[in-house]
Amino acid sequence: MVSKFAASCKYRMLRKAMNKRIKPGDPYSEIDHDHFWSKVHKTDGCWLWTAGKFSTGYGQCHVRLWPMYAHRISWMISNQRNIPYGLFVLHRCDNPPCVNPDHLFLGTQLDNRRDSVAKGRTAKGERHGTRTKPESVHRGDNHIFRLHPERHARGQNTPRCKLTETIVREIRCKHETGTISCAQLGRDYGVTKQSILALIHRRTWSYI
Ligand SMILES: [Zn+2]
Repeated sequence: MVSKFAASCKYRMLRKAMNKRIKPGDPYSEIDHDHFWSKVHKTDGCWLWTAGKFSTGYGQCHVRLWPMYAHRISWMISNQRNIPYGLFVLHRCDNPPCVNPDHLFLGTQLDNRRDSVAKGRTAKGERHGTRTKPESVHRGDNHIFRLHPERHARGQNTPRCKLTETIVREIRCKHETGTISCAQLGRDYGVTKQSILALIHRRTWSYI
């Protein structure tokens, strides 16, 4: 068991480390070039990042405890400046772990999407998620409202509801007798004629 004192020491050390974290925005001056290149395996084509990776496959490199994309650091080192705000470092080679500066270029998110569509990287047709994982598409009986009807606010549970299920049944019964107009029913129950019509034609309260 960890003593209280050791725990507080650890906490203080962690706080210290957190304070040392640089703010994203001025990382270029903080990069340890030798450390960065020691993690790169250079080949004739792509230069591959050999250390840790993000789940997306992009190389992960810490700059003063701040996790960053390795290819962004590579771009900053080769251009000796920060990446302009809001811009992305994109791959010409479509290889996420690649950090070869010749394969990297600056662009916007829109450029990235257009590039992705032009090169056919987007999932469509047989590769689309609805075909590859049909079980995770929530439709029909697999829809969340069917699986967990209690989570679906409807009828009386909706916040701006004026009527209740009993009253709705009552209104429908009265309407069937044919002796009372929708406008009169509306006046009686404090709703509009349109609301009465909607519930009679089952555009609303259709589940009752
Ligand atoms: Zn490459």
